[in-house]
Amino acid sequence: MMKAVVFHEHGALDQISYTDVPEPEIGPDDILLEVQAAALNRLDLWVLQGWPGLNLKLPHIMGSDGAGLIAATGKNVTNFAVGERVVVNPTLSCGSCFFCRSGRDNLCKDFAIFGEHVDGFFAQYAAVPARNLLKMPDHVPFAAAAAASLVYVTAWHSMISRGQLRAGESVLIVGAGGGVNTAAVQIAKLAGAGSIYVVGSSREKLDLAHDLGADVTVNRQEEAWGEAVYEASGRQGVDMVVDNVGAATFFTSLRSLKKGGRLLTVGNSSGPKLELDNRLIFARHLSVIGSSMGPTSDYETVMSLVFDGRLRPVIDSLTPMQEGFSALKRLDDGEVLGKLVLVANGT
Ligand code: ZN
Repeated sequence: MMKAVVFHEHGALDQISYTDVPEPEIGPDDILLEVQAAALNRLDLWVLQGWPGLNLKLPHIMGSDGAGLIAATGKNVTNFAVGERVVVNPTLSCGSCFFCRSGRDNLCKDFAIFGEHVDGFFAQYAAVPARNLLKMPDHVPFAAAAAASLVYVTAWHSMISRGQLRAGESVLIVGAGGGVNTAAVQIAKLAGAGSIYVVGSSREKLDLAHDLGADVTVNRQEEAWGEAVYEASGRQGVDMVVDNVGAATFFTSLRSLKKGGRLLTVGNSSGPKLELDNRLIFARHLSVIGSSMGPTSDYETVMSLVFDGRLRPVIDSLTPMQEGFSALKRLDDGEVLGKLVLVANGT
């Protein structure tokens, strides 16, 4: 047996417990990961709530982002060895369908995410296909690698691969403080964005955005953020908006674009249903670009930038694994600056 943060039924936070579950068994192409760090994502809370069609084997081990040491290898695994430090690409794919063979494994017919569709990393051990592993340099902490995975591949794939962000363009990031938003500011900066605007709900979150490279910050509690961005851009609007809020902000995000601009929609923390006047899109030549996670190639690209220190995940705090409930409660409360990371007991 091993210890894990699980829920036995979908529902609220009180369904979560830290308890004994069977150790995972590995297949011939898998490795057994001894988890050293596992990062929280909003996804954990949505999976806890559940939705129609999500049919999990219960109890479900939470957590999409993991890093640690290889404790055992399946008989077909030749490129990894026991004791190596690795981080896990959170996206699972079949490796053989049309999308996988064309390098778009995030569109795989069997697409899945650790912690969402299968057991995750809030546990002592996890079974992981070897092709999901990335070796970590010794100088990179497990917590940093785990904190980076899901949010950086999400932001990179959206802004760089799908959005084609170019140097000199202006970018508005709707939301501050969360993992994808802090990653998006850093990636915009690295890509040479001309001006970076960030809208957020508190001074602390906006100060963080500023420290990461934001040029203009707008507190949506204090002013009408759409108008504030419009004025700050010299009444031009921006080239690109990154929006993971959804229903509550989508209209204003579209309105914040220059003619010909593009809106990257990467999530819906405020809800999914929209009502739009489509003249706003066609008459102003706007593009709405959807994206979720990213292919392995983008994962490797963005993690190499994390390993090189050119992208630095912001970590709010480290919490021992057995106190996973309190970290999830903090995430649910929303007052978080960067990533919450669970660490193995004793590390
Ligand atoms: Zn596939």
